[in-house]
Amino acid sequence: MISEKKFLDNLHIIQSQIAESCRASGRNPDDVTLLPVTKNWPAGVVDYCKRAKLMRVGENRVQEALEKKLGISEVCWELIGHLQTNKTRQVVGEFSRIQTVDSRKLLKKINDVSLQKKIKTSILLQVNAGSDPAKYGCSVEVVDDLLEFALSQQNIAVEGLMTIAPYAPDNLDIAKTTFQKLRTLRDDLCQKWDVELKELSMGMSMDMQEAIAAGSTMVRVGSALFGRR
Ligand SMILES: *Cc1c(COP(=O)(O)O)cnc(C)c1O
Repeated sequence: MISEKKFLDNLHIIQSQIAESCRASGRNPDDVTLLPVTKNWPAGVVDYCKRAKLMRVGENRVQEALEKKLGISEVCWELIGHLQTNKTRQVVGEFSRIQTVDSRKLLKKINDVSLQKKIKTSILLQVNAGSDPAKYGCSVEVVDDLLEFALSQQNIAVEGLMTIAPYAPDNLDIAKTTFQKLRTLRDDLCQKWDVELKELSMGMSMDMQEAIAAGSTMVRVGSALFGRR
C-alpha cells in the first residue's frame, strides 16, 4: 500500500490538474468532485482519504466494499462497478449512490428493495456512450426510455449519467468524443423531461482532462492517486 505522504503528493498533483483543466475550459473547480477509487486497496487508503477531507469513495465490487465499510464511519460509498440484480438487496441502503444502473430490471429491483427499506436510493444511469462491446451500460438509443422508467419509480432519485470511455490510451480523441456525447445526451434529456440530472460522472486517471473539458462533474480516480497493482 502506498505511503500517506506519497498519496498526498499524488492528490496535490491531481487537484492541480483538475484546477488547470477547469481554468482551460472556463469552469469553476468547485463544480468537479474528485471521487477516489479505492478498489483493490485496503481500508487504510480510505482513512487517508478521510484525513484529506475526501469524504466519498468509489468501489467496484459489492463484497469488497461491504467488508471495507465495516471499520470506517462517515464516508459515503458509491458503487461504480456492475451490479447484478441478485445483489441489489446487499447494496441498497449501504451505498450512498449506485452509479451503474443500466436496465429496467435493475431499476425495478432497486425500487422494490428501497420501498421495503423505506428509503429513496440515489442512482446514475450508466450509458455505454462509446459503444464499447467490452463495457456495461445501456446504449445511447435506449437511455431515453430508461430515464422515463426511472423517473416513474417513487423510491429512486436519478441524479445524472455515468460513462466509462473505451480503453484507448494512444487516442484520447475517442474519450473526448465519448464524453461529449454523454454531455449532449444529458442536456437533451434534461430539457425533454424537465429534470436536473446534475451529475456527469466521467473521466478516470487517464482521461480526466478530456472529461472535465466536456463537462464532467465527477472524475473517478484510482491509479493516479494510489498507484497500480
Ligand atoms: C477502476 C475504475 C476507475 C478508476 O480507474 P483509474 O484508471 O485507476 O483511475 C474509474 N471508474 C471505474 C468504473 C473503475 O472501475
